[in-house]
Amino acid sequence: MTVLALEIGSSRFAAGRVADDVGDEDIREIPVPASGAWDRCRELLLEVAGGAEVTALGIASGGPIDMAAGVVAPAEVPEWRTGFGIVEAARKVFPSAAIRIALDGVCLALAERNFGATSTVMDALAINVSNRVIGGVTVGGFTVVGRTGNAGHIGHVLVPGFDDRCTCGGRGCLESVAGGMSAVRWARGQGWAGTSVPELVEGARVGEDIPAAALGRAGIALGRAIASVAALLDIDFVVLGGPLTEVGPALWKPLGEAVATHARLSFLPGLRVKPSQLGDIAILAGAGVLAATRSDT
Ligand SMILES: [Zn+2]
Repeated sequence: MTVLALEIGSSRFAAGRVADDVGDEDIREIPVPASGAWDRCRELLLEVAGGAEVTALGIASGGPIDMAAGVVAPAEVPEWRTGFGIVEAARKVFPSAAIRIALDGVCLALAERNFGATSTVMDALAINVSNRVIGGVTVGGFTVVGRTGNAGHIGHVLVPGFDDRCTCGGRGCLESVAGGMSAVRWARGQGWAGTSVPELVEGARVGEDIPAAALGRAGIALGRAIASVAALLDIDFVVLGGPLTEVGPALWKPLGEAVATHARLSFLPGLRVKPSQLGDIAILAGAGVLAATRSDT
């Protein structure tokens, strides 16, 4: 019995065998292909399967998705922007496999609940901050999927005090401030000469003014969004991961201050925001949970 997990991320496609207890050595990844996306994805899956008969495949994809139709439309994959039927395509590769798909943020929440920091709480919010800001909500022990599969799009929660233009077409979304590429764009607008998220994070870590200011804005925006969501859903535990969160106090200090300033209702002072321990396998591990949950569909 071979169970596979696939991540369609904002910067990579990654796949792994769940039966091997997903570890770094079992994961294969490629940058998001500029063309031939499904061909490259199929090659990746076949490589990981290694000729075994695949019985289940879990797919975590960047949104938006249409869960019932098995269609994904992530902005980072040019050929798929108007929708790609990934479940049907995967079924042709693995005809006897049960194939399940969910939003990357939903898979993130599943991973934190099964292997991570939220395993002992019933009400939690999981967030990952990389190029995108993605999230998944667990309420009363159930991870919220939503009507079309898109619940948890915290990157597009509006943040008061910001008016940056967002890739979704709106303004002032969390991702337009705290998303990696947005933070890079803002820093460059302030005169910073770098071009990448790792450079920005490193600059902030060593105390360069503009990168530190960019991560400070991200922290404030995250803190405000977290306070809002915690009030809406009565959540007291937030787990936060992704490359931008590894910068240290430049992001965490303003984030903590924003949470303390805005999470004031009587049920919120205990609100905890903790770093994720799952590293960059979190979303893929959640896809594995998805695949292993049921095998009769
Ligand atoms: Zn937006």
